[in-house]
Amino acid sequence: MAGNYDVIVVGARCAGASVAMLLARAGQRVLLVDRAGFPSDTISTHLIHAPGVAALTRWGLAEQLAASGCPPIHQYRLNFGPFTIAGAPLPDPSGVAVAYSPRRTVLDKMLLDAAAKAGAEVREKVSVQELIVENGRVTGVRGRETGNGGALIAERAGLVIGADGRHSMVAEAVGSDRYREQPAGNVSYYAYWSDLPTSEWNVYMAPGRAVGMMPTHDGLTTVLVAAQIADMRDFRDDIEGNYLAEMRKLPGFDDWGSKATRVSRFSGTALPGFYRKPYGPGWALVGDAGYERDACTAQGITNAFQHAELLAEAWLSVQSGEQSFDEAMGGYQSTRDEQTLPAFDLACDLATLAPPPPGMATLLEKTAKSPQASREFLSAIAGTMPVNDFFSVENTSRIMAEVAQ
Ligand SMILES: Cc1cc2nc3c(=O)[nH]c(=O)nc-3n(C[C@H](O)[C@H](O)[C@H](O)COP(=O)(O)OP(=O)(O)OC[C@H]3O[C@@H](n4cnc5c(N)ncnc54)[C@H](O)[C@@H]3O)c2cc1C
Repeated sequence: MAGNYDVIVVGARCAGASVAMLLARAGQRVLLVDRAGFPSDTISTHLIHAPGVAALTRWGLAEQLAASGCPPIHQYRLNFGPFTIAGAPLPDPSGVAVAYSPRRTVLDKMLLDAAAKAGAEVREKVSVQELIVENGRVTGVRGRETGNGGALIAERAGLVIGADGRHSMVAEAVGSDRYREQPAGNVSYYAYWSDLPTSEWNVYMAPGRAVGMMPTHDGLTTVLVAAQIADMRDFRDDIEGNYLAEMRKLPGFDDWGSKATRVSRFSGTALPGFYRKPYGPGWALVGDAGYERDACTAQGITNAFQHAELLAEAWLSVQSGEQSFDEAMGGYQSTRDEQTLPAFDLACDLATLAPPPPGMATLLEKTAKSPQASREFLSAIAGTMPVNDFFSVENTSRIMAEVAQ
């Protein structure tokens, strides 16, 4: 065993704090570092679908989230203009059927505290600047405290996990290869609103534009507006004007729009899609560091939880001698990729905000007319039904036949 720790985790949000908690609970000596001080916000809206809530339930944290005052979300509504696909997604296999959209200040702090409670040593306001590499193997990190006069730190471990987001310093330092790269399909900006009550995840799609709304803490509603990537420069030239112009087009805006108040500044970005090889000698990646996709299907946090579990399981099987490092981590990568690829492709398609091709438009229109098909489509988005099962020839033929007109 190298160093003072079994594992060092760089990045302490939904991927990093989760994997640190799971490993610490299994008896590993874990150091968890982040350059942020918590509670801390980040650029992200924050819908967690039922499979993500199921992970929190397995970890004993779902009740704490519910008790934090975050409203439960049971219904999704995707408005395509001429038709709307609405309903409650199917539950995940463990029976969890609820989604939440917690502020990251609340969610990430809750996960960080759970990691600390499990025994992980947490160091906030520490920026990792480089990896320690010996004989071709990562053996630790060097960094600097962002307060306290910038004291230097150097720590060693058997495994360094990069949970440091899509611009991962760990991934860059080890030169991890990217694959299935997709350019950003849109640019999106969001803000928080008061007096704009909603209990659902509402998405309004129009050619080249989309608006998403979801209820969050403190009685607020998150409203995100996305514009196709070709319009990024124009959109950014007047974010407020363009954002409000899209809101004004929404059904009933004249009723609710005059009462609602924006209570935050705008935040946003454009997200490309890619996978990174998530392991090598002495290192691993989890969360956005290893797998990034557009936010339109709201899968990032749920995926971060799922992949934290997969990575923890893989590392523990190495520690117990059950599998070699390459076997276990190769399994982690292939399971991660197999489980996410169809959803990744769907997210990349939807992210372009292009009108669906005619065959797809017909399928979606018919889906909207069938409560069961609507539930299934929404479940494919939520991750409680495999995307390929919804779009299988058998299933789509059934929907087309069932809904005659
Ligand atoms: C506009 C937008 C909307 C989104 N909406 C949703 C949504 O509704 N639902 C959903 O599930 N997902 C959504 N996502 C995606 C979601 O935010 C990410 O998938 C998720 O945050 C990934 O978590 P993570 O822990 O992997 O990385 P991050 O949340 O990016 O956390 C990485 C952490 O690493 C730390 N770090 C980085 N480098 C270093 C370093 N060198 N030293 C120390 N610390 C470091 C950072 O400070 C940060 O705290 C959205 C994203 C965006 C941009």
